[in-house]
Amino acid sequence: MDSKTLIRPEVREFEPYTPGLGIDEIKQKYGLNNIIKMASNENPLGLSPFVQEIIKNYAVQSFRYPAANNPELCNGIGRYLDIDPAAIFCGNGSDEIIDLLIRITAAPGQNNIVAFEPCFSIYKLQARLCGVEFRQTALNPDFTFDFDALLKLIDHNTRLVFLTNPDNPSGFAATKDDIDHFAAHLPPTCFLVIDEAYIDFATPFSQYSCAELPFKNKQIAVLRTFSKMYGLAGLRLGYGILSPVLADYLRRVRLPFSVNILAEKAGIAALQDTTFQDMTLAIIDKGRKKLNQELKKLNCRVYPSQANFIMLKPPVSAEKVFEELLSRGIIIRPLKSYGLPDLLRISIGTERENQSLVTAMKEILS
Ligand SMILES: *Cc1c(COP(=O)(O)O)cnc(C)c1O
Repeated sequence: MDSKTLIRPEVREFEPYTPGLGIDEIKQKYGLNNIIKMASNENPLGLSPFVQEIIKNYAVQSFRYPAANNPELCNGIGRYLDIDPAAIFCGNGSDEIIDLLIRITAAPGQNNIVAFEPCFSIYKLQARLCGVEFRQTALNPDFTFDFDALLKLIDHNTRLVFLTNPDNPSGFAATKDDIDHFAAHLPPTCFLVIDEAYIDFATPFSQYSCAELPFKNKQIAVLRTFSKMYGLAGLRLGYGILSPVLADYLRRVRLPFSVNILAEKAGIAALQDTTFQDMTLAIIDKGRKKLNQELKKLNCRVYPSQANFIMLKPPVSAEKVFEELLSRGIIIRPLKSYGLPDLLRISIGTERENQSLVTAMKEILS
């Protein structure tokens, strides 16, 4: 017997997520000691010292199971955002919440899920794994949102519409008013999921944040993560702001302890450390402007970004630029896996990292 035949077809055909390259892989491959990683949109300042202390203090508690459904963390987020904690659901990264939303709403072979093309690949991968049709329509050529085209894909079998705002990989962001207006045109048979992984970096924040929308429109869910601005990518923590009905079903079906004790304590502490948040925002804002300017001087087309990364089209082959940077110990993200082989995505780094990148780009492009 061929044991492969026992595996579901959706699983046999599954193409795994392509993560950004790891630091250790590159050190080995190129025999380098110093690596600059500007590939995965992590916080260039690392982990806040205050949060480090908290993690150390709670390490001894790791033999305990966490409290089911993380009430302390939900309350902390509720206080931070000034919203009802019943509307908050925490997950093992927002990835877990994306996966759960698909599984609780979309029936395989019957329902469909809608998003732009290109989009964050987890939406498509988890839909496929569930045997759920995934429909996409192209972004505008300048990477802005074509809401009319998105509406045309939506029918009464659509259960989820994913919108990444600010968008990954372009950095484009639509305003809250634009999104609210789009949501008003949706049929009542689907949810709009606004993935705000990068919302902290959008300015002015109040024009872009959709955190209040789930309270006036039960069809809207907002996803946030601690992986980017809060610097906790390795601890895996995200949350959703959702209608209490949706939040309640998520709590019923989740694996009970997917958010671990240290992630919970670190998340609460990260929300309190506003000094670290302000430092992060300042360094991203400054670095984004600087990279934008310098890369434009080198004849790169740089797309405007409201996130902690920028997307660019270099004047020569993107693959060559990527390889040349790698050989100098700088890891960025080629966008071939997003179907954009001519484009690159660079996470904003520290001032020194940004400078190293610019120096390397000057060498490569001269
Ligand atoms: C990074 C990112 C996330 C966050 O994922 P986590 O699982 O919370 O680390 C979600 N959506 C998009 C579009 C992202 O780029």
